[in-house]
This record gives sequence, C-alpha cells and structure tokens, in this order.
Amino acid sequence: MIIATKSSGRALVAAPTLSGKLVKEAQALAARQTAPYAPGERDELIRQIKELLQKQDAVLVAHYYTSSDLQQLAEETGGHVADSLEMARFGSEHSATTLVVAGVCFMGETAKILNPEKRVLMPDSAATCSLDLECPVETFTEFCDAHPDHTVVVYANTSAAVKARADWVVTSGIALSIVEHLARQNKKILWGPDKHLGLYVQKQTGVEMLIWQGSCVVHEKFKAEGIKSLKARHPDAMVLVHPEAPLEVIALADVVGSTTALIEASTKNDAEKFIVATEPGIFYKMQQAEPDKIFLEAPTGGDGATCESCMRCPWMAMNGLRNLKQVLESGVNEIVIEKSVRRKAIIPLKRMMDFAKKCT
Ligand code: 13P
Ligand code: SF4
Repeated sequence: MIIATKSSGRALVAAPTLSGKLVKEAQALAARQTAPYAPGERDELIRQIKELLQKQDAVLVAHYYTSSDLQQLAEETGGHVADSLEMARFGSEHSATTLVVAGVCFMGETAKILNPEKRVLMPDSAATCSLDLECPVETFTEFCDAHPDHTVVVYANTSAAVKARADWVVTSGIALSIVEHLARQNKKILWGPDKHLGLYVQKQTGVEMLIWQGSCVVHEKFKAEGIKSLKARHPDAMVLVHPEAPLEVIALADVVGSTTALIEASTKNDAEKFIVATEPGIFYKMQQAEPDKIFLEAPTGGDGATCESCMRCPWMAMNGLRNLKQVLESGVNEIVIEKSVRRKAIIPLKRMMDFAKKCT
C-alpha cells in the first residue's frame, strides 16, 4: 500500500526502509575481499587477471568507489574508471566481447541492457545498492499507475525491472538537464527512488515532482554540523558534495555534482584543500591527479554518533581482486536479464544516452 503525503508543496512517497542487517551482511562479504593479502598474493592476482582479461577479450570497467587496486588495474589494462553514466558509455563503445563491471548490480545490468550481445560479468553480482533495494518494482509500479499523467524519471541506481517501467533514466551527472528538458515540455514528473537527489533537482530546477522516498545509505549519513566544524578548522577548504546527500549538507557545498564533476572540481580549482562528502574510493583519482593537495573526509557523525556504513559503500567494497580473478576463470556472475524486461528498459536508457550525446 502506497501512502503519498503532500507537504510544503511536494509529495513524498513512503518506500520500504533498508534494514541495517543487509548492510552488515554486505560488510561481512566485503571483508573477504578487503582481508590483507598473503606475501606476493596481490601481485600474483594482478598478473593472472591481466592474462585472463587478454585471453578472454574482456575489458574492466570500474566505478570510482571501488578499491584503488581495481581502479589501477582498469587503467593499466585499457579499461576505464568512471561515473555511472560514463561507465555505460564506455562499455557500449568498446569492442571487447566481455565487459567486466566492477561496481554495483545496476551498473552491470545497465551494461547488459545496452549491450545484449556482450557477456557482462561482475566480481560479485550480489553487490546491490540501498536505492535499488528500497524501490521494489511492484510497489513502484503501483505508484506510477496511480499517476498516469506523470512522466516517470528514475535514477540509474535501480533494477532493470524498475527501468522498464520508466520513461527516462538519469544519472546524477545528467539529472538536472533532463528534468529541465522535460519541464520545458510542461511534463509532470514522478521521480524515484532517491529523495535527496530528487529534492535537490526540484530545488535547482523549480520543477514540482512526486518523489519516492529512497536514500543512499552512505550519502544520507553525512552531517551538516560535522562539516561545519571541520570547515571552521580548515576555512581555506572547498566543500565538495555528491547530490545524494541531504539538502542541509548540500547547502554547505561549494560544488555539488556527480563523482566525475567532484573530481574535476578538485583539479580545476586553485584551492589546496577539499572537504569531500562522498564515498572515499574517489580519493584514489583525486590524489592521482593532485598529489600535493589535501583531501579531507566529510564527517558522518558527531561525538558518540554511530553509523551503519561509515562512509564506505558496503556493496562497492564487495568487489576485489580475489573474486575478479574467480569470475574470469569460471565465468560465474554473468548478468542475465529477461528479454521482455530488457526490451522495455533499453528505451529510457537509450533516451538518456542519446540526450547525453547531444549535450557533449
Ligand atoms: P555517479 O553517477 O556520480 O558515479 O554516482 C553513482 C553512485 O552510486 C553514487 O553513490
Ligand atoms: Fe548505492 Fe549509495 Fe553505494 Fe552509490 S554509494 S552504490 S547510491 S549505496
């Protein structure tokens, strides 16, 4: 049963809340990948993976939140490290017959939807995302069906089935432009599942939207008070915030944007110090580009506060060298999407990819 509540001019819709138990389970699985290596193990894994990638005509596409080992390996083997939009674009344009997606499930599914002829593997295909978990297709469909006059815009962090119910897919890198584009056509917008990103888009564009109430377990935990006191100690630092964070955190930002936009901001600005409110996997690329600059983690709590994820995305951390080697050897964790779902999901995804092409 869906309950829509109108408050201060906007509708928020109840979504199932994510239990801390799922985060703990993911953290336990991730611990297998992050456990210290035996002497020589890391180098041997890297050597074997490089050989396997070549032998299998496979390319590694990694998200900025994966470990520095995976990001480095993608770079060294002709693969790519990117945000979710660019990961999709790279996978579609690369000639490899196998795409190995190091990230979370929706990224692997997106790659498969766009490239049905390619084999898509993931180090762990159970690596999900709290936004995806909080947007079950049945209840989301019910919500959409109750508002047939609305254009359904879903964040990329959703299942293939939810995308199949959407008119448009967006990533954080392109959400504002797409919503502005729809507003120019006087479309009414139903947005899901990230309430924080939805409220941010609504504020920036002035477009009223019906908003599903999912959230990112990582970004939701950044605390405005903690950032303010860190900023007081480092007044020369610029504040960089991913738009999955709550509005009061975004209000403190000098730059708000996708992971790529935040990395670009850290290189293009003259500032020497940055407070970064996103998953710390991003520091690998920031530090690589600017080794002399200082990057500070934005706090997720004040004194005595507890946090479920402590800034780390528990599902991104499920990707490691160990399971990457295993999937390349065995071919397990191949992404398979039912044809009827894929046929529908490709429509809003392609719409986004085509729109992005026109913008660049
Ligand atoms: P980007 O598209 O900015 O990489 O974001 C993906 C994501 O999952 C952020 O939490
Ligand atoms: Fe999902 Fe948040 Fe992890 Fe991104 S950081 S994949 S939004 S849980």
